[in-house]
Amino acid sequence: MTCGNSSIVKALLKGRFAPSPTGRMHAGNIYAALCSWLIAKSTGGSIVLRIDDLDPDRSKPAFADQVMRDFEQLGLFWDEGPFYQQRREEAYRAAFERISEKAPVYPCFCTRADLHASSAPHLGERNVYQGTCRHLTAAQRTERQQEGKSCAWRVQVPDGPLSFQDLLQGPQTSNLACDCGDFVIRRADHAFGYHLATVVDDAEQGINCVVRGIDLLSSTPQQIYLQRLLGLETPSYGHIPLLVNVKGKRLAKRDKDAALDALLAAHQTPEALVGHIAYIGGLQEEDQPASPQQLLQAFNLEKFAAKAKARYAITWQ
Ligand code: GLU
Repeated sequence: MTCGNSSIVKALLKGRFAPSPTGRMHAGNIYAALCSWLIAKSTGGSIVLRIDDLDPDRSKPAFADQVMRDFEQLGLFWDEGPFYQQRREEAYRAAFERISEKAPVYPCFCTRADLHASSAPHLGERNVYQGTCRHLTAAQRTERQQEGKSCAWRVQVPDGPLSFQDLLQGPQTSNLACDCGDFVIRRADHAFGYHLATVVDDAEQGINCVVRGIDLLSSTPQQIYLQRLLGLETPSYGHIPLLVNVKGKRLAKRDKDAALDALLAAHQTPEALVGHIAYIGGLQEEDQPASPQQLLQAFNLEKFAAKAKARYAITWQ
């Protein structure tokens, strides 16, 4: 069945909000949630709320509660959840085992300093893991473990093209071996890696459309590779421009004037704030108050895709 106004997608989309509860939300987080909500709802679909609280040191339950109140106050309601990543360790462990059966997974003893020394990235480049620990012998691994060295676990990646069609950015191709190298699926502090947890949860929660910031576009091939190893469906992906501050830096939770309490104080009503984010982000033509529900009436995915395409950053002001 096709609902809504889009010819790009012909299915009911199930999207998600996946906030990391590490602080108060900023305009960029709200923009990502708003786009995800509009894209799913414009097909008659639904939204799952998942709390990405995988990082035990930085995630705080109080922030998760606050994020939920913030979404509700802005009219960004979800249909399922909240689901918490911290409660999903068993599912991640099972996926880790399964990945290890399908591709080489090995312990990596490199320290942060080792990794930076081997490949200092230039602006816009990524750190590519050079495979240093891939060929350690069993004896060398045991020796390092006996020396008390902690290890992360990496999955070996293939050397070849991996392509996908981004809903907003168009066709994408990358080669994991050149673009990132073997990557971490379990960290040295034993937490499971972001990519592993994300693909396991997206699949289990039935997400068929992931909308997020363009800074995560380069993570998508890693996630698709894990989906293939795990025999999981690949959802549609849509990567939206990043909101950056006047200095061109990505908004962060510590940018006080882009944090939600300051934004609400400045804009006075949730609708004025949502309307302003929508205006800056190419979701409406005028800077006027609007609820997500009102934006939905006029939302058109093709038009939005034309504005978002090849646009890396939008200055927040
Ligand atoms: N939790 C991430 C964030 O808050 C989003 C991860 C994702 O969308 O895959 O930026």
